[in-house]
Amino acid sequence: MNTSLASKQLFEDLLHQITVYDTQEAKEIVFWLLEHKLNLKKIDILSNKIIDTHQTIDWSNIVERLNNHEPIQYILGETFFYGRKFLVDDSVLIPRPETEELIALVSQWEKQQQHPTKPKTVLDIGTGSGCIAISLAKELSNAEVSAYDISALALATAQKNAALNHAQVQFEKVDILEAASQVAITGKRFDIIVSNPPYVTRQEANEMRKNVLNFEPHLALFVDDTAPLVFYEAIARFANQTLNQEGLLVVEINENLGPETAEVFQNAGFSETIIVQDIHKKNRFVKATFSKKMKKD
Ligand code: GLN
Repeated sequence: MNTSLASKQLFEDLLHQITVYDTQEAKEIVFWLLEHKLNLKKIDILSNKIIDTHQTIDWSNIVERLNNHEPIQYILGETFFYGRKFLVDDSVLIPRPETEELIALVSQWEKQQQHPTKPKTVLDIGTGSGCIAISLAKELSNAEVSAYDISALALATAQKNAALNHAQVQFEKVDILEAASQVAITGKRFDIIVSNPPYVTRQEANEMRKNVLNFEPHLALFVDDTAPLVFYEAIARFANQTLNQEGLLVVEINENLGPETAEVFQNAGFSETIIVQDIHKKNRFVKATFSKKMKKD
């Protein structure tokens, strides 16, 4: 069936039916939905473009899922990170805008190096959708990127994202909590190690919105209240043995545990650990390096 639709009316109808988001957020969602489903840009909607569509789109199903707090990114199966498209499903976290700042931090560091274009090895621990590893593979010059995750399902999604973005990343199924104590066996070395590991405590889960809590993988989000820094401790141990001299480590952190997380890296022998704030002025990353003198065995 060929139907003619006035886009503004469709926009208003959908907006009206979405009840679980504030108006601004709901508008963004509907703009995104119409672009994805009907290739309508904001300007097309604002100028009330008439659309002829042969497709039947099950809008009521989409609205129902949205009102059930399912993230729009899972409904559409994709999102954007650092200017690129990434496929997402419930095996991976939806990439967050804050995490884009990690890519910028690493790129900046590369530019400040004496030989910025020198080949470098990069490792992303707990890669999820692969957004960090793939963005670094694209943004850095001459980087050989590896990425670990404990979840085979996440790795399958990350592989698809690497193909989608024409990026070369070597994915491996690794549990960093185990790898940290077996690292001597692999003998691998890296110039850059990055990670956005699980860091939300169960206690903090009480304040989380349903769209996160009910849909995103808990494996990627939560840590036990009694050991909130367990992944940083493993990463620090691992990096202590695998990060090259003059190498860089950047991890995303729990905003409530900035100094405590920095201390983990200081205790592991890193000589310089800096807490970096995100655009919202929250403690969001720890950046660490070490010199030969300071490195513990
Ligand atoms: N920043 C994410 C959130 O608050 C959590 C990401 C993570 O646990 N690494 O939902």
